[in-house]
Amino acid sequence: MGVTQRLKGQSAVVTGASSGIGAGVARALAREGAQIIVNYAGHPEGAEKVVHEIETAGGKALAIRADVSQEDQVIAMFAKTIEAFGTVDILVNNAGLQKDAPFQNMTLAQWNAVLGVNLTGQFLCAREAVKEFLRRGIVPERSRTAGKIICMSSVHEVIPWAGHANYAASKGGVMLLMKTMAQELAPLKIRVNSIAPGAIKTPINTAAWDTPEAEANLLKLIPYKRVGVVEDIGAAAVWLASDESDYVQGTTLFVDGGMTLYPGFDMGG
Ligand code: NAD
Repeated sequence: MGVTQRLKGQSAVVTGASSGIGAGVARALAREGAQIIVNYAGHPEGAEKVVHEIETAGGKALAIRADVSQEDQVIAMFAKTIEAFGTVDILVNNAGLQKDAPFQNMTLAQWNAVLGVNLTGQFLCAREAVKEFLRRGIVPERSRTAGKIICMSSVHEVIPWAGHANYAASKGGVMLLMKTMAQELAPLKIRVNSIAPGAIKTPINTAAWDTPEAEANLLKLIPYKRVGVVEDIGAAAVWLASDESDYVQGTTLFVDGGMTLYPGFDMGG
């Protein structure tokens, strides 16, 4: 347990929390006193490990299996969450995947799989969370808002990415889904923002950093000359979920070591 407890007594659903950024965000929110639903889609081992880590540190967590692209499974996950924790205060829409292919070879199945999880999954989870935020309303002892949604986007919501048309389209979609929800839900005292990670060391991009050559190549794209770690994203998520960011609405927080600063122009262009 951390000393600041900025999320004390709040319940958070973190999708795709069995590995990588989602696991890091789950641990970070738990350290601040939130109880965590560790959502996963495949085998339970990863999610159970994250639950165990949180419990060992004195927190509370529960693993729930649900494919976020499937409406019935998302609805069931929120029902189980409310049954277990009473309500939901925070949603971190983190689940995501890549199915890369040269554009002319990209199959409809690859397109649909990525859009289904990365974009439709965020819509389905946000909708169920918002229903619960509105049902419960504001509980002033816990937070100044009725609820917070954090969408895990990517620098590829603004940087085009050859060979990843489906992924870039999904993250571009997340940007305007997030902003539209933020505009529509602000009067209802629901805060919606995104985090756009740059290159973070996780299983999704191992090939980009797991050899010295690959890492050196990647660092050319990062002015800060460090590949990110999941703790960088966890810290940003805690802040966006807490009342410290109470006046922040509809913003993408880029956590990317400067990747979106056109590093190719660092010699004057
Ligand atoms: P990861 O592969 O470690 O994690 C993705 C998680 O999503 C996994 O736990 C996976 O099981 C889960 N998932 C996949 N399909 C799912 C489904 N249908 N339902 C529920 N869960 C599902 O990769 P990561 O890097 O931790 O990625 C997490 C998020 O961060 C993704 O949205 C990704 O696009 C985004 N992101 C990552 C980076 C990076 O550099 N790692 C950069 C920008 C954005």
